[in-house]
Amino acid sequence: MSESVGDNRMYINGRWHDGAGGEKQPVGNPATGEPFAEVPEATSEQVGEAIAAARRAQPDWGGRAPLERAAIMRRIAQLVRRDGDALAKIVVREQGKPILEAEGEVGGAAEFFDYYAEFARRIQGEILPSDFAQEQIWVQRVPIGVVAGIIPWNYPAALVSRKVAPAMIAGDTIVLKPHEMTPLSALFMARLFDEAGVPPGVVNVVTGRGETVGEAITRSQDVDLVSMTGSVPTGKRIMEVASRHLTQVSLELGGKAPFIVMADADLDLAVRSAVTSRFMNCGQVCICNERTLVQEDVFDAFVDRFVELSKGLRVGDPLRRETDIGPKVSREELEKVEALVDGAIRDGATPVLRGGRPANPPTPKGYWMTPTVLTGIDPEMDIMQKEIFGPVVPVIPFKTFEQAVDITNASRFGLSAYLFTNDFGRIMKAVTDINFGEVYVNRVGPESLQGFHVGYRESGVGGDDGLHGLEIYLRKKTVYVNYSGAPTVPLMPYSGS
Ligand code: NAD
Repeated sequence: MSESVGDNRMYINGRWHDGAGGEKQPVGNPATGEPFAEVPEATSEQVGEAIAAARRAQPDWGGRAPLERAAIMRRIAQLVRRDGDALAKIVVREQGKPILEAEGEVGGAAEFFDYYAEFARRIQGEILPSDFAQEQIWVQRVPIGVVAGIIPWNYPAALVSRKVAPAMIAGDTIVLKPHEMTPLSALFMARLFDEAGVPPGVVNVVTGRGETVGEAITRSQDVDLVSMTGSVPTGKRIMEVASRHLTQVSLELGGKAPFIVMADADLDLAVRSAVTSRFMNCGQVCICNERTLVQEDVFDAFVDRFVELSKGLRVGDPLRRETDIGPKVSREELEKVEALVDGAIRDGATPVLRGGRPANPPTPKGYWMTPTVLTGIDPEMDIMQKEIFGPVVPVIPFKTFEQAVDITNASRFGLSAYLFTNDFGRIMKAVTDINFGEVYVNRVGPESLQGFHVGYRESGVGGDDGLHGLEIYLRKKTVYVNYSGAPTVPLMPYSGS
């Protein structure tokens, strides 16, 4: 059953390891429904070894000149590009997104290293005015130490870079745990880290399930930051466990992006953008259009064109370049989305396009799902409140911009929001009134490296990317240097000489 895709062992302290307990996890191909590889399940001792290796490696790594760290990162970027085709195929095979999207993801995975390498000369401190003569005070940025990076399955290559690259330039070392369904991209990238000359212990990749391996990492007293991307329940659990040692957390969690279309918008641009933003990666993106809000004057025209375009999307083999939508990542994820659609219809929604499992699936056991579009929606319905994470979208009319903003903000999520309009005043009002971490006007995602990917409310704490994302991997140290030779305050004993 197992087929080697590169080396499927874990990468700890610069060496390749099987699971000490002998347990393995199968990795399946969502397009065939068949397992095609297996990876080791780390024991808690191995998790401890990886964290200890990261701790030992950190002083040397953090003490190197930033330019030296950056040079290794640039080599990683080159190697990811050199092996980009192979990596993209692994992403498709274990995760199911269409090859064109996987190639884009791998491009991003390389760029994170080039981008953060640029910070070699930019991590700087501040000199503060002193209260005393001949005293110097400064605040400097220092590595936070040992980072745990825990990532989901929807971007199994890019999210490796999103955690590893800022950690490396900050002078931190990292233990990365990919999702149990999609560990092969991370293991493939670990070989590139090794080849690029990353010293042993600086980046470690351990594999296994969240509730065992992930939990063991989070429980460790010797981790300084847990930077996790994933679902809200897991984020809450990680925060709870990490709080026992007051370990810092940065959590990038789920989304329920509103996609607001005003009557004055360019309708063609809005429809195509809404379709792309809903169906990319089979709807499995935290910034996906999860609820489309359309001003009533253009509602019917919008829905007609949206349904027409959605119907025409090609669901099929993700390795084919003409495929628009690959399979869902797993049967459980497929069933979760089906249950939400069934619930919405029971609650009164109308399926103007009723997708689901195709009658003639591209392969019999793949997790295929064609687009569904729902109208007759009430903002209180589950389908408007819960993250769908699949190729399904509720479309709801509104009268005024203020109504759209009210519906938008009435959500536990607060990651990305979209607005399509050509009214400048409205754009500026939306920027203030939409209570989300990212607002996209007349464009879809993805977010840019130099932005700050940040969710409000249950969409997370902390954030990723750019200067502000890097800050999370650093801490500040204040230094007071008195060079006057005299005390700055009266010293004990206070009376006498
Ligand atoms: P998930 O929460 O199931 O898993 C994420 C990671 O956490 C996995 O590696 C998993 O093994 C690990 N994990 C699970 N239980 C754990 C525990 N008790 N302790 C420590 N680690 C544990 O999420 P998923 O299903 O892989 O991903 C989908 C979710 O991720 C969606 O909600 C999506 O919106 C979100 N996501 C968010 C962003 C963002 O940037 N905000 C990006 C991508 C995905």
